Amino acid sequence: MESELKKGETKGLLEKELQNLIKKQRAAALSEGINIERRMNRIDRVISLLVENSEQIVNALKEDFGHRSPEGSLATDIFGTLSSLKYAKRNLRKWARPSKRRSLFPLGLFGAKTRIEYQPLGSVGVIVPWNFPFNLAFGPLGSIFSAGNRVVIKPSEFTPSSSDLTKRLVLEYFEEEEISVIIGGPEVGATFCSQPFDHLLFTGSTSVAPSILRSAAENLVPVTLELGGKSPVIVSDTADLKRTAIRIMAGKTLNAGQICLAPDYLLVDKKVSERLVRELKLATKHMFPTMINNPDYSSIINQRHRDRLNSLLDDAERKGAELIELKPKGENFLTERQGKMPPYLVLSTSDDMAIMTDEIFGPILPVIEYDHIQEAISFINERPRPLGLYFFGSSKREEEAVVQGTVSGGVAINDVIAHIMQDDAPFGGVGDSGTGSYHGYEGFINFSHSKTVFSQTPYEFPLKITRPPYGAGIRRFLDIMIRK
Ligand code: NAD
Repeated sequence: MESELKKGETKGLLEKELQNLIKKQRAAALSEGINIERRMNRIDRVISLLVENSEQIVNALKEDFGHRSPEGSLATDIFGTLSSLKYAKRNLRKWARPSKRRSLFPLGLFGAKTRIEYQPLGSVGVIVPWNFPFNLAFGPLGSIFSAGNRVVIKPSEFTPSSSDLTKRLVLEYFEEEEISVIIGGPEVGATFCSQPFDHLLFTGSTSVAPSILRSAAENLVPVTLELGGKSPVIVSDTADLKRTAIRIMAGKTLNAGQICLAPDYLLVDKKVSERLVRELKLATKHMFPTMINNPDYSSIINQRHRDRLNSLLDDAERKGAELIELKPKGENFLTERQGKMPPYLVLSTSDDMAIMTDEIFGPILPVIEYDHIQEAISFINERPRPLGLYFFGSSKREEEAVVQGTVSGGVAINDVIAHIMQDDAPFGGVGDSGTGSYHGYEGFINFSHSKTVFSQTPYEFPLKITRPPYGAGIRRFLDIMIRK
């Protein structure tokens, strides 16, 4: 009873704190109006925060993961984040310029004017998952800050060192009216997304998304959902198999497969499947001659996720799959202390295996054969819409069939994951993999209110005929206008 009371009190305090922050942030955004220099300065400070503290960031990630490849962290959580922030900074002046639009005929002829002002929404709540704690907290700020908004960030409870460092660095580089950080798990998250933010950005799992939408609906808060799912890879018999295998395994082993865009399963033309499996093994061996003591190979975030991945393997094996463990000779992962797990290929899968329904989010790769490209396309279309979709091959006809015949958040041809690095293009999902986007111009628009501002003609003549008492003038006008 007492602890419930305490819980209620804590929730009440958190609600109050969040509501105060939102109020302050909204007022600050409104009073600043369109101030390009201030927006650029804010993005600059995010860039400085990341560059000046990159070593601390790499170490925090290492602590949270057990082991996290330092180069992997620098490439994804720092470089990958900087690149989109710098792109936003370079372009925000152009994006934020009011856009002139045509006025309804004949008002424009009489001096009426229409324009769009891109106004900040106000205070944006950002909920962050554990797999790229810095990239997913600070990367969206390119879009959010270029549109003139303020932010409250809630990092993941699974990465305590990264979350604490995020909070500390934000306090050092920003005023609370600019960015604030709220630490906590799902309960804090639930309170967080029940607040009257002007927009919520949730990056996380598809299974949690409905509760985020339900909470946000109470306050009519618009939501951008950046979710996950099963991103398929199609390998045609026209693909260069060696190059294909290297690119797939590089993507699959980056962060040990714990990436929303990681290739989740392969659909391979039967004619080349044996050769591809051989090349996948070689590519892995070449990148990781050792794994346990290899700093380039990252760990699985925690025991819960290792158990989840092992149960996917057990379930598949029990139902008749063939598991190929891609571990270096002589390495024993059972006694390994950093929480690493070797990559696996899984052959002879069936639809009733959890590995074919759940997002894998780890270094396991099912390989499924197809006879004809249309079979692969239908396989994908019978399942929820994925975040990423990858096609390897040199046939333009097949490439076109895949791009036109499927719906996914984005597509990469002859690579995996790489489309997220194209800063000039939006990144987001569709259907079960998300809604809304950030990066590029579309990201700016996603976090702006496109406000139409119409300035009426000073002349009475064109307007007079539209008001009662109606006469011949309005009739003539409507006769002209109501035509096919
Ligand atoms: P998660 O959904 O469990 O948690 C994400 C965040 O939401 C955490 O901060 C968590 O505390 C919070 N949360 C959990 N339950 C909540 C609730 N009921 N109400 C409010 N907040 C709640 O996801 P995760 O395990 O941290 O991350 C992995 C998932 O995220 C994968 O599905 C992955 O594909 C996806 N992801 C997507 C992208 C993308 O950009 N599309 C990027 C990274 C990860």
